[in-house]
Amino acid sequence: MTHKKVILAIYAHPDDAEFLAGGTLAKWAEEGHQIFAICATNGNLGAKITDITPEELAKTRKVELTNAMKTLGGEKAIFLDFPDGFLRDHIDQLKERLIYWVRKLKPDRVITFDPWKKYQVHPDHIEVGRMASEAVTFSCFPMMYPEHLKEGLGPHQPEELWYMIPIEHKPNRLVDITHTMDKKMKAIFCHQSQVEMMADLFVEGADPTNLTEEQKTQLQDGAGTMLRMVSQALANLSNGDIELAEVFYAIKLGPGMFDNYQEMIQEMIGIEQDSLEIF
Ligand SMILES: [Zn+2]
Repeated sequence: MTHKKVILAIYAHPDDAEFLAGGTLAKWAEEGHQIFAICATNGNLGAKITDITPEELAKTRKVELTNAMKTLGGEKAIFLDFPDGFLRDHIDQLKERLIYWVRKLKPDRVITFDPWKKYQVHPDHIEVGRMASEAVTFSCFPMMYPEHLKEGLGPHQPEELWYMIPIEHKPNRLVDITHTMDKKMKAIFCHQSQVEMMADLFVEGADPTNLTEEQKTQLQDGAGTMLRMVSQALANLSNGDIELAEVFYAIKLGPGMFDNYQEMIQEMIGIEQDSLEIF
């Protein structure tokens, strides 16, 4: 095996990365890399029902992510416990916490949301992507949050930031998840509270708050088929070599900046971008 990497996925809500990067995280865990997940909010508003309190929901969702990380082969999830839906009101604290954890975990590669993606309406996805981007570019400056130094945490510079669901750019990273698709699906179904909310999309006439066992099976089959189709479509970018894939747009990092000037200039003057790297 090549150099063992530390990989950090930064989520807004407990189920975010499983849908978009679960196969990738499982694959890297199988290859011996160390996988961490930081979840910025406790997800305590993620329900359409009112017979559960936000506190109960937060508890449930923490267990769901803990189980999902076990399934993917990752480390115990880290929760920052900012309020669901209102990350925008806490961006300074979020930035400090993310820089703290980047310095502590020393990731080589970080995965998060693209905060500049078109039609991204969820404010938590925007803010977590924005502050994660700032954290990975500024965590190398020791005079920023010098109190971390007193705790023994030195500056750190991750190598690359990978954005999930790259819509603004042609993906430049494709991960073959053919052999980890089953783990991805298992991890997604650890998030029962969230998956069941989507039941009426897959099971005609289903009441998401009151599903029968048969409807739960139909939901699993329907969601599984849809996610497989998406992964197959993305795998087409590999010219048919790969059956199922997840894709990303990765940017190399420099101190206080994205190290992508060459690529941006190429894009500006219409030169074909660098080719797809396959993992
Ligand atoms: Zn989310």
